[in-house]
Amino acid sequence: MVKNVPEIFGCMVFNDDVMRERLPKEVYKSLTKTIATGKTIDASIADVVANAMKDWAIEKGATHYTHWFQPLTGVTAEKHDSFISPLGNCKIVMEFSGKELIKGESDASSFPSGGLRATFEARGYTAWDPASYAFVKDGTLYIPTAFCSYTGEALDTKTPLLRSMDAISTEGLRLLRFFGDTSSKRLNVMVGAEQEYFIIDKEMYDRRKDLLYTGRTLFGAAAPKGQELEDHYFGPLKSRISAFMADLDEALWTLGVNSKTKHNEAAPAQHELAPIYANANMAVDQNLLTMEYMKKTAEKHGLVCLLHEKPYAGVNGSGKHNNWSISTDSGKNLLDPGKTPAENVKFLLILAAVIKAVDDYQDLMRLSVAFAGNDHRLGSSEAPPAIVSIFVGEELEEIIDSIISGKTYKAAKAHVMDLGIPTVPTFRKDTTDRNRTSPLAFTGNKFEFRMVGSSQNIAMPNIVLNTAVAESFRQFADVLDDAEDFDVAVAKLIKDTFAAHKRIIFDGNGYSDEWEKEAETRGLFNLKTSVDAYDIFASEKNVKLFEAHGVMNASEISSRTDILYENYSKIVNIEALTMIDMAMRDILPAVTSYVADVADSLSAKLAVMPKLSCMFEKDVIKTLSDLTESAYSALTELKAAEAEAAAISDNVMKAKKYCNSVIPAMDKLRALIDKMEPLTASEYWPLPSYGDMMFKV
Ligand code: ADP
Ligand code: MG
Repeated sequence: MVKNVPEIFGCMVFNDDVMRERLPKEVYKSLTKTIATGKTIDASIADVVANAMKDWAIEKGATHYTHWFQPLTGVTAEKHDSFISPLGNCKIVMEFSGKELIKGESDASSFPSGGLRATFEARGYTAWDPASYAFVKDGTLYIPTAFCSYTGEALDTKTPLLRSMDAISTEGLRLLRFFGDTSSKRLNVMVGAEQEYFIIDKEMYDRRKDLLYTGRTLFGAAAPKGQELEDHYFGPLKSRISAFMADLDEALWTLGVNSKTKHNEAAPAQHELAPIYANANMAVDQNLLTMEYMKKTAEKHGLVCLLHEKPYAGVNGSGKHNNWSISTDSGKNLLDPGKTPAENVKFLLILAAVIKAVDDYQDLMRLSVAFAGNDHRLGSSEAPPAIVSIFVGEELEEIIDSIISGKTYKAAKAHVMDLGIPTVPTFRKDTTDRNRTSPLAFTGNKFEFRMVGSSQNIAMPNIVLNTAVAESFRQFADVLDDAEDFDVAVAKLIKDTFAAHKRIIFDGNGYSDEWEKEAETRGLFNLKTSVDAYDIFASEKNVKLFEAHGVMNASEISSRTDILYENYSKIVNIEALTMIDMAMRDILPAVTSYVADVADSLSAKLAVMPKLSCMFEKDVIKTLSDLTESAYSALTELKAAEAEAAAISDNVMKAKKYCNSVIPAMDKLRALIDKMEPLTASEYWPLPSYGDMMFKV
């Protein structure tokens, strides 16, 4: 059935139109002012807003409300309360007060807090974020909230995100004033997250413990066909996938998520969804909803959506391109270079600020995407390396070079593309080509951060970008405040900044070994594993940054560091235990019974025809028996390594042990088992093969 998209779009969202229609004028004005300026909400209007929200939600079929928050687990959390309130006489009314809207109390003790909250102080609070719209789904009114401890420390990802958005706005407005902009009241960070994912048939998924427990395959020999024909990328959609995508779009549209683009990705059974960008906090919420609905909708179609960064070895993994820009409250994009970037002083200053920020805080950029799943992706010839660098494109790089060297810049002529086919119109060629290997690429009027993992909450990468750029803005504004001649000072500032931070600009092949060597000579960070990256989070420089802008304090940072280490260890531990279970209980017994059956038939054959060579049977028995021996000893080593790591109580030492000894032991066992798979008859192998999982969907 063809849906009326404009009609269904956002129909389950308490958005600006609904607010205008349903709230008294004064209340609406006060609320929108809060949203636009980021100021605190006036408590007196909360009751009115709550009541209007409840009436609207009930019309949409809601019976419950929930404070929806983003604890440090990386996923969202919710607890549903119904609107019912007793009237006496066995009757009830549906009620929802301003107090319930603004503040929720929640037992924080079961969420990770990294030592921020002692067990005796279990109370946590959720606080309404009026800048993210409430919405109704599954019969419940969802109110986006921030989550903090009794003592006010942030226990979530949203609070620091909102704080970082304030920081970049405050410092950025200071800069804009130098350019005569006195009307902008707020700078907004705009984010569009392109989401990659895999789809697998539910029936096959159910037969793989590794997918069930860890989200990725821990064993699996390569199929005869992978992605080498490049026939999947942008290829036609299979009808089952297309039906799933249509359903997904519809669900997302009703929730006001601007799902815009969908296509097949490079690996077989891999796909992508891109929304239209939105305010950073909305974009984070919407991306979380997108991931949730990808999973839910897939299930309706007998499919499972895999959001893990590396579900299959040997083909591309999944990432999330985090497109980022800053714009004024009237919608002017500060990263728009205009027609003549070389003469656009404001743009060059903002560009210099971002380049400086990324160079000064490369380590934090890397940290913001560091978790066990993403380690399988970064630096393995399909995603950016673990080294952070910026690609600005040929034109901007020439401009930057000419500014540093003091030469005048000659603009390259715009090239007209003529394909030589009369019916195809000519068009102007972009002045720069794309670079797909860069971790952070300038793509016309935005930066695209490509190290982000497909399963992660995008709050942290944006917190880091916002805060680091806020710091550049602050330093720039301080310099310009003291300047006698603005034009001279700003020119010098731009030139000095480009010169000091040029090392972070790299337009070559980021996947190459040469880059790793060159990055080292340039003194860039190369934090190869997540555990390496966790070590730098709480460095003096980084704590100073977050504290200076009121984004996170030292204890919030150290608690987050603890959680990162802890989470890393837990994930690798689950993977190790799953491998041990699968090898011991499923794979080795299956191979053994296959070998036994082959041996039986070998003796049967020889009994009848003693002269037969029986090469096949003998080879199979010999090779698989040898591999079984080696695999069993690798399994024993893995068990020992896991036990040793599990016994360590120090968080940091433990994560290092998992990284440096459990993971190599897992790799060793996997290599042996993957050699056994192609030698074992399909009917004996207890798991769906890579070929089945990727091509039969
Ligand atoms: P590509 O990355 O292939 O160039 P698009 O230009 O269509 O693709 O954009 C990809 C994503 O970037 C989309 O989610 C889009 O909404 C978002 N985007 C576009 N412009 C901006 C911007 N100014 N700020 C933030 N995100 C943006
Ligand atoms: Mg892109």
